[in-house]
Amino acid sequence: MAETTHGALAPTYHPLPITIARAHGTHVWDTDGNEFLDFLSGYSALNFGHLHQGLVAAAMTQLRQVTLTSRAFDHDRLEEFAQRLVEVVGPLTTGGEDSLVVPMNTGAEAVETAIKAVRKWGYDVRGVPADQATIIVAGGNFHGRTTTLVGLSDDPVSHDGFGPFAPGFVRVPFGDLAAVADAVDDTTVAVLMEPVQGEAGVVVPPDDFWPGLRALTAEKNIALVADEVQSGLGRTGTTLACELWDVQPDLVCLGKALGGGIVAVSAVVGKPEILNVLTPGTHGSTFGGNPLACAVGVAALDLLSTGQYQARAAASGKVLQERLDALVEQGLLTGSRCVGLWAGIDVDPALGTGRELCEALLERGVLAKDTHASTIRLSPPLSIVQPELEMALDILEESLVALRD
Ligand code: PMP
Repeated sequence: MAETTHGALAPTYHPLPITIARAHGTHVWDTDGNEFLDFLSGYSALNFGHLHQGLVAAAMTQLRQVTLTSRAFDHDRLEEFAQRLVEVVGPLTTGGEDSLVVPMNTGAEAVETAIKAVRKWGYDVRGVPADQATIIVAGGNFHGRTTTLVGLSDDPVSHDGFGPFAPGFVRVPFGDLAAVADAVDDTTVAVLMEPVQGEAGVVVPPDDFWPGLRALTAEKNIALVADEVQSGLGRTGTTLACELWDVQPDLVCLGKALGGGIVAVSAVVGKPEILNVLTPGTHGSTFGGNPLACAVGVAALDLLSTGQYQARAAASGKVLQERLDALVEQGLLTGSRCVGLWAGIDVDPALGTGRELCEALLERGVLAKDTHASTIRLSPPLSIVQPELEMALDILEESLVALRD
């Protein structure tokens, strides 16, 4: 298979050997016109599929009005976007209908925003001495690529060599409630975790973990922050992954699918007591909450509020899980974890690497990406129909058999 050259690009990525020229729904086409099923969906930024008509129409309409004002001036789509987020996501947090919204652009910025908010809340409201606040995070996390966020990572490739890192974080094993309880002290202002870890390979914690975190943090007046940048907005068969355990976090970080794969939109949504500390001058972004982002964000939230995408993710997820379980039983995979329409699969290193499996899939018309040496994540658009899903899973089986033989 031809190796991709970097050309003028710094070598931050090792893309699979395909050059995409066009896309629609669950399909993409390369520059030679070959068709592929997208089983990555831009790391879940394309939950509604490529070029969803309603999202494109919302973007086109807004492109003829106004696209950027900066937050120095209000515009007529900003409050609408915030209100819609509060309607759809607010009740799933402890902020309820009184939730507040901080609009940003990328997932990493949303998480950075949440970190700033809980630290300032710790200082202003809880009385934690300045520069003493600590935040508990999980091993295996992925929250983004800023220097603060890679400082939280225990993945050596993301982390090593990029220090010195910001202090004030304590890392405990993901899913280990006793370890979280042990790490809590008077300086703890927040627990920040992904409900289901995406980049780690779709790692689902034990069922009592999030309810336990909620009880512990509520008792100690610690903010519970859910990074739902990848898990949120329908992927798990629910609007938020936290709903799987009936848990309302205090703050939720959203990104990716909030921009419908068209624009970069992220946000922090939740408890007013916390987000009210971000007073004028404390935080902001030139592009955060811009009119184009808000218009597409509102249209994405409209799609989500029908419940259709969540229902489709749950139904298709059952098919996905059954087929993956069968591949594990046949010995073609060493493991699989599935939640909604989102799976992490483990390839037997004796058969090949995750990358080799992705290349075998690509040759047969399916796009997927390895997250670790022997793990790949499957996350097709939630709009996928059953024949497409079955076809991609047939190709997965065929590719694994080809690696084995
Ligand atoms: N949080 C989580 C859970 C993510 O999966 C990601 C991206 N993979 C991010 C944050 C960062 O998002 P972005 O790339 O938009 O900064």
